[in-house]
Amino acid sequence: MDTIQVLSYITTAAGGLFLWFLEGFIPFFSGRKSRGTHAGLNLSIAGLNLVILLPSGIMMAFALEQSKTIWSGVNILGLPLFLETMLVILLIDLWMYFWHRINHEVDFFWRFHSVHHSDPSMDVTTAWRFHYVEIVLSELLRFPVFILIGAGIEDLILYSMLMTPVIEFHHSNVSIPSSVDRLLRIIIPTPLMHRVHHSVTRSEHDANYGSMLSFWDRLFGSFLLKKDIKNMTIGLDNESAPEQQRLFALLARPFQQ
Ligand SMILES: [Zn+2]
Ligand SMILES: [Zn+2]
Repeated sequence: MDTIQVLSYITTAAGGLFLWFLEGFIPFFSGRKSRGTHAGLNLSIAGLNLVILLPSGIMMAFALEQSKTIWSGVNILGLPLFLETMLVILLIDLWMYFWHRINHEVDFFWRFHSVHHSDPSMDVTTAWRFHYVEIVLSELLRFPVFILIGAGIEDLILYSMLMTPVIEFHHSNVSIPSSVDRLLRIIIPTPLMHRVHHSVTRSEHDANYGSMLSFWDRLFGSFLLKKDIKNMTIGLDNESAPEQQRLFALLARPFQQ
């Protein structure tokens, strides 16, 4: 594991912890109890995913290295390194947009992605709550896409370092002035945008798919804002009972529909 990868894990953990504490002091939705239990559940789901993500990362590094000898992707354009890296980062984020959108529009994928949406108390820990089958599918489909782009493993680590703080931030329950949110959403998907994405109403949660850049939602017509988010219900209809919000219930849920 090299220095940049260690740095990416440190920024992820530090950013997550910082936002989790901040949610306790300046929450957007107030009156939340059992934050520790809620975080424990989401982090247990995330912890399981490490079993898939760690070997997959090693295989990805190997696959990207080997594929360069046959197909060089965007390297064919002969751009200066900085521009080439920016283009690769943009294309990865574009893939993330479409992958997220497919997860909403294709019933088979929604079956697994809806575990992320079934959290009735979205906060920073929800950023890591994904069913393991969604992670497996996401990792499998990344291989051909990233090879086609011609991404290097260092591009993926850089993307992860840039994207992770953004997804932690837009899932967080931190209250920020609406003027700041307005300014930030010119570039990134903000908490107000992503709260709409976690609304119980389908026409609202089928919007704001962006991971790192809000630009794609504007470009592809899925950008949505809503007034009075404070009174909006987060999660999915009939999914917030305590017995439904348990580790094994959530893992089994997609197979019972
Ligand atoms: Zn979603
Ligand atoms: Zn989300």
